[in-house]
Amino acid sequence: MAAGIIDGKAIAQQVRSEVAEEVAAWVGAGHDRPGLATVLVGDDPASAVYINGKQKASAEVGIEGFDHRLPVDTSHDEVERLLEDLNDDPRVSGILLQLPTPPQVDGGALTEIISPAKDVDGLTPISAGLLAKGRPGLRPCTPAGVMELLRRHDVALEGAEAVVVGRSDLVGKPVATLLLAANATVTTCHSRTRDLAEVCRRADVLIAAVGRPHLVQGDWVKEGAAVIDVGINRTDAGLTGDVDFAAAATRARLITPVPGGVGPMTIAMLLRNTLQAARSQAGEPAWS
Ligand code: NAP
Repeated sequence: MAAGIIDGKAIAQQVRSEVAEEVAAWVGAGHDRPGLATVLVGDDPASAVYINGKQKASAEVGIEGFDHRLPVDTSHDEVERLLEDLNDDPRVSGILLQLPTPPQVDGGALTEIISPAKDVDGLTPISAGLLAKGRPGLRPCTPAGVMELLRRHDVALEGAEAVVVGRSDLVGKPVATLLLAANATVTTCHSRTRDLAEVCRRADVLIAAVGRPHLVQGDWVKEGAAVIDVGINRTDAGLTGDVDFAAAATRARLITPVPGGVGPMTIAMLLRNTLQAARSQAGEPAWS
């Protein structure tokens, strides 16, 4: 049986259109336009491409962009002062500090001074704590995108065996927590997991977030599973995921390609988070 392909590009476009409609209704009801401030320190070309993409996507859905680009030799304290100003700026609903930062700027520490109300990347300890407690809050964008792909394909999570390979703060841990909140039975794997292949074979829902090309082989996939490949690996053969797509697709019921699967969802969920942050700051219902 050939797997159904989860078209992340199309789903991301749907989410973006929905956000655009909601922003128009929000502004039409007399509220200020939501604002997204991005902060990029230095001239790393890949980071500049990400920031350009985020700013362009914001403009397309009617979110106001505040695009801060600082020279590579900007001091840690200067970035800190900018983030504090953005925390206080009522036009700014969400703040995103692009990582990695140059060595003199401690990007991890600075992420933590972003106001939790404006933490549209969902990476501050407060946001992580709200997620762990099952309380409303801003969720990390890529994990939220994974959940949205599963939801829009009606993948049953309640009681399902879900296996997450990877335990990073950025992807693995929050995905596992979101799956648990959806009443899946969740196993989180990492570099020290024994018999990884056997654990993966139990999965009705298999999430790979590792950063190792084709680590997950076809015969690690249970017949009929939903497979979500978060990995983005640059190889001589081009961009590839953590799952051996061709082999896995002969067993899975649903599978994401790389590129065109999870990747496009991240910016879509950032836009949604920015709108939610604006709603929440205005004291309006923000969370579905
Ligand atoms: P990360 O911080 O490097 O974490 C990788 C995780 O994989 C770690 O928990 C590590 O285990 C585990 N791991 C490494 N080798 C393993 C192995 N042989 N077997 C089992 N587990 C292993 O990476 P990340 O930030 O989570 O990103 C993961 C992948 O997703 C990368 O390819 C990244 O580019 C991609 N990504 C994509 C998006 C998107 O928008 N689509 C967003 C973010 C990340 P330990 O904890 O034991 O070291």
